[in-house]
Amino acid sequence: MTEGVVWIAVVLVMCGVLGLLIGSFLNVVVYRVPAGISLMRESRCPACEAPVRPWENVPILSWLLLRGRCAHCGTAISARYPLVESATGLAFVAVASWLVEIYGVAPTPFFWPVLVAHLYLAAVTVALALIDLDTRRLPNSIVLPSYVVLFVLFVLACLLGASWEWLLRAAVGGGALFAFYWLLRLVRPGGMGGGDVKLAGVLGAALAWTGWGALVVGAFAAFVIGGVVGIVLMAVGRATRKSAIPFGPYMLLGAWVGLFSGEQIARWYLGLVTVG
Ligand SMILES: [Zn+2]
Repeated sequence: MTEGVVWIAVVLVMCGVLGLLIGSFLNVVVYRVPAGISLMRESRCPACEAPVRPWENVPILSWLLLRGRCAHCGTAISARYPLVESATGLAFVAVASWLVEIYGVAPTPFFWPVLVAHLYLAAVTVALALIDLDTRRLPNSIVLPSYVVLFVLFVLACLLGASWEWLLRAAVGGGALFAFYWLLRLVRPGGMGGGDVKLAGVLGAALAWTGWGALVVGAFAAFVIGGVVGIVLMAVGRATRKSAIPFGPYMLLGAWVGLFSGEQIARWYLGLVTVG
């Protein structure tokens, strides 16, 4: 019993620290990928070009110690940097605790590739949501490799004992959600972007790996969240019926609702239907 508690604590702390570090990298991705700047170049202060030294690059802590200013020229550093780092850290902990709940405290070997796949998806979620809000684009350079990454990790999970049925389900789910968004785009070309269609395949595959309930709830939740936010934005006068609101963030948020609670919601709903 205590061994299990220690194991969970170690996994959650490891994922949290990894999330902070990945979050720091995502700040770079979100800024550089849309601007077409290489990810390999060293970090510099955008105001004075002073290189960022390693101790100035520690997630959250450096920003706090520097009081949100460049150590060299004193220019303010956006609070978005530590916020993205904290959000990614928390997201990684949430993903790990969700999977521990599904797969148990003494997990099978395939727990690890499944964990990595979903941590990867969480990182992609943070990057794509911010890039879509900033630039209204979902870059192919992030979306398309995600098909390969998820496929490889899910195949690895199957080789380590996960059910090949889940992989088949992921392929069918990915195809189905891709086709659904492709049809939406065909019916109303101004609504969805091509990036939304390509992202739908990735999210459909990840959702269906967990289950059909996750897929249905995740797909549906995107439109519910998008609708609610749209109505609120119109009510406060920040948007009109004609405003182009990027849909990627809703797809991503909806997918996590589907992953975290889709199976329970589906069971609850089917229970209502059969009892009634
Ligand atoms: Zn500076």
